[in-house]
Amino acid sequence: MDDKKLAALLFKHPAYNVVGHVRPDGDCVGSQLAIFNILMARNIKCNIIKNGNYGSILSPFVDGYAVVSDTQFDPTLPLICVDCSDFKRVGVNIREKYDKPYLNIDHHISNDKFADHNIVDASASSAAQVIAEALIRENIDFDKKTAEMLYLGIMTDSNRFAYDTTTLDTIKVVATLVAKGIRVSKIFQKVYERDTLQKYALLERFLRNVTVFENGRCCMSFITEKDFMETGAELLDTEGFVNYTRQIRDVEVGAFLEFHDNYVKCSLRSKDAAWRMDLLAKEFGGGGHPAAAGFIIEHKDPAFYSKFRSTLAEHVKNILLKS
Ligand code: 5GP
Ligand code: MN
Repeated sequence: MDDKKLAALLFKHPAYNVVGHVRPDGDCVGSQLAIFNILMARNIKCNIIKNGNYGSILSPFVDGYAVVSDTQFDPTLPLICVDCSDFKRVGVNIREKYDKPYLNIDHHISNDKFADHNIVDASASSAAQVIAEALIRENIDFDKKTAEMLYLGIMTDSNRFAYDTTTLDTIKVVATLVAKGIRVSKIFQKVYERDTLQKYALLERFLRNVTVFENGRCCMSFITEKDFMETGAELLDTEGFVNYTRQIRDVEVGAFLEFHDNYVKCSLRSKDAAWRMDLLAKEFGGGGHPAAAGFIIEHKDPAFYSKFRSTLAEHVKNILLKS
C-alpha cells in the first residue's frame, strides 16, 4: 500500500480524470463513480473517461453522469486509474497521452504499481473495497450514492459474495455501506435480474460448446463473433458464463474463450486459488487473481483453441505434480 493517505492524494488537485480498464465491469464503474461523487462533494472536478461500452447492465448506473470519451479527454489533468493491474489495461488511447498516471487504486495480486502513487491491496475483493476501506479508515465522509456505487463494485467482483475474496473486512465494509441506507436488493436486481432472450440464445450456444477434459478436472467452452451477430446479444451478456465452466461437479479449472474478428478474450476461473489462474493468464500477456484471471490476445489464430487447451492441461498437470 502507498505511504500516502487517500484523502491527501484525492483532495490535492482541483481536477482529475478517472478511468478503469477496457471492457469496463461493475468494479470499474462502481469505483469510478464513487471517486467522482467523493470529489464532486468537495467541489473538485472529475472527468469519468469512458474506454468501452457499458452495455445495458452498467449503462443505467452511469446515466446522468458526465462522461468523456477516451479520445476527447484533457490529458493535462492528473489521471486516477481504478481496477487496473497494469497501465496497459486502460487501453491505448489513454496510455499514449500519459507517461505515468497520478494514482493507481487496485486489488490485483499482479499489480505492477505503475503510477506515482499506488493504493493496492491484493487481499481486497475489489477496487471498490479498497476505496471504501480507505474512506472508513481516514474518516472521509461519503453519501448514500457513493455507498451504492461501492456496493456495486464489491458485489460484482466478489461474484455476489461467493468468492473467498469475501472476507471479514469485506463484510465490515458492507455493513458501513448498508448503514448509509442503500437497498441491496435494488442494486442486485439492477445487475442480475435484467436478462434478455438474446442473452439466453447466446448462453444456449455457449452451453452446447462445453467440454470437460483432464480426468474431469478442466472444462472449456467458447463462442464466436458469429454467435453474437446471430443471437443479437451484446458483449457484456457473457458476464457470468465462465462460472458454468467451473461449477460442474469435480471440475477444478474452467476457461471461457470469446473469438472475435480481431482478438480472442479468455476468462479463467478455478475452485481453489492453488490453481494459479493469474500465472496461466500471464503466459498469454494477461493477469488477474489466483482463482479468477483473464487475457486478451489481439489476433485470430484458428488453432488457438486447441493450443490453449493443451497449455491449460499442462498447467494443471504441473500444479498437481508440485502439490
Ligand atoms: P474476467 O474473466 O472477468 O474478464 O476477468 C477476471 C479477472 O482477470 C479480473 O480481475 C480482471 O481484471 C483480470 N483480467 C481479465 N483480463 C485481463 C487482461 O487482459 N489483463 C490483465 N492484467 N488482467 C485481466
Ligand atoms: Mn476488480
